[in-house]
Order: sequence, then C-alpha cells, then structure tokens
Amino acid sequence: MTDKTTALVTGANKGIGYEVAAGLARTGMTVLLASRDRARGQEAAARLRAEGGDVRPVVLDVTDPATIDAAAATLTRLDVLVNNAGIAGPMGDPPSAMSPRTLREVFETNVVGVLMVTNAMLPLLRRSPAARIVNVSSGVGSLAHHTDPGHYMSALPPSATYPVSKTALNSLTVQYAKELREDGILVNAAAPGACATDLTKDLPFQVTRTAADGAAVIIRLATLGPDGPTGGFYDDAGIVPW
Ligand code: NDP
Repeated sequence: MTDKTTALVTGANKGIGYEVAAGLARTGMTVLLASRDRARGQEAAARLRAEGGDVRPVVLDVTDPATIDAAAATLTRLDVLVNNAGIAGPMGDPPSAMSPRTLREVFETNVVGVLMVTNAMLPLLRRSPAARIVNVSSGVGSLAHHTDPGHYMSALPPSATYPVSKTALNSLTVQYAKELREDGILVNAAAPGACATDLTKDLPFQVTRTAADGAAVIIRLATLGPDGPTGGFYDDAGIVPW
C-alpha cells in the first residue's frame, strides 16, 4: 500500500484524533484516518488531503471485530497506532447509581476496543523498524490525582465510568509496554488535557484548550526516537503520576 512510515489513528474524523491525524500527516507520514462512519471519515480525510497530507480513510469501529479485521487486512505496513477513539458515558454517575450495562458500554469502547485494535495491528507493528503505540487516556484516569488531597481532582464528584475506564486503559498500557519491550515497540499513555470537543461540550465549565493543543502530546509520543520511554503516562508538562 505504501513504503512510507504509516500511522493509524482511531476516531480520527473529528476532535483530538483529527488533529493527531493532521499533525502526523505534516511530518510526512502516510496517515490512515480511521472512522466508524464511512462518510465522515472520507470527508475528514479529503480535508487533510486538500492541505497536502497523504491521508486515507479507513472504516473502523473499535467495538466491531469485523471492521477491525477488515481494516487490518487492507494494510501492508504500520508503524504508529494511536488508540484515540473514546466515549465519555454519562455525567454524574457515582458507583452506587451506576448501571452495569452503561459501565460495560464505556469499557467496550475505551478499553476492550483498544485491546482488539492493538492485537489486530500487532503483526504489522512487529514488522516495523520503530513501532509506537499511543493510548489516549485522560488525567481523570490517574489514581494518584484522585487520592491526593492537594489535587483538584480529589474534589471532583465520584464517577464510576469514564475515569474508571481510563484507569483501566492506563493499566493495559503498562502491561502492553512490558510485553512489547523486547520487540522494541514503545507503548505510552497520553493525557491531552481538557479540550473543547464534542466530548466535553456538556461540561458545566468552560474548556479553553483546543483539540490541536490536546493532540500535541499524542503526536510527541507517536514520534518518539529510539531511546524514548515506554510504559509511561504523559501530558504537556511531562510525566503524569499513575
Ligand atoms: P470527540 O467526541 O470529539 O471524538 C471522539 C472520536 O471517537 C470520534 O471520532 C468518534 O466517532 C470516535 N468514536 C467513538 N466511539 C467509537 C467507536 N466505537 N469506534 C470508532 N470510533 C469511535 O472526543 P475527543 O476528540 O475529545 O476525544 C478523543 C480522545 O481523547 C478520547 O479517547 C477521549 O477520552 C480523550 N480525551 C479527551 C479529552 C477532552 O477534553 N476532549 C480530555 C482527555 C482525554 P463519531 O464521530 O462517529 O462519534
């Protein structure tokens, strides 16, 4: 399909994923812009191609193994995987009021989806000379933040879905990093910070960072040099405590 360094970004038709696709295309990579909706993906990829990027749409729903396998089957090379697709789930969802079904739905996208996409892409990534995996997590996935009485997150209302799913994603990141260390594949989690996207539009406070601001740390981790870290959690300022 291509001889160039190739990246696949899930949920890239809008928001932070779109900006990650744009930024990686600007480095000269071939970018596979994955979207669960064919038309939205084609439209987004066309916009980035109009800016000069080598960006190709791929249909991929992270909860649908058939689309994941079909996407993997079309690829001949993959160097960078950005597991960006994610959902917020309900707001105001303390554990005592949480429906197991809702929790399963959020985990299906934010955790199981990452596992399924990563495992489908691993044979290709293992053949890359310098593979990188970035899992798009969140600062609210940090147990350290929630349990530090001096951190503002310890005062946030209890929530049983989104933060719990991102903590699980962080754990999965550590386990993949351990497994893939000997393959030379660097696996890290990114906290983009609160950015104005559709995911945050119903928050009760103003979010000032842009999706492009959030994409920056993800792009940095996707383009780490050979001595870069693995098994870490990073935001713009550096290491985020787990
Ligand atoms: P958006 O809602 O703007 O974009 C989410 C993207 O994920 C969309 O492309 C959406 O597709 C896609 N998606 C959702 N479910 C699936 C699925 N099953 N299969 C494939 N794609 C799917 O959110 P953001 O850009 O803000 O979020 C991107 C990532 O960043 C998420 O993982 C989020 O948790 C994380 N994040 C965001 C923060 C923020 O402040 N915005 C802060 C911290 C982390 P569709 O258009 O079809 O719905």
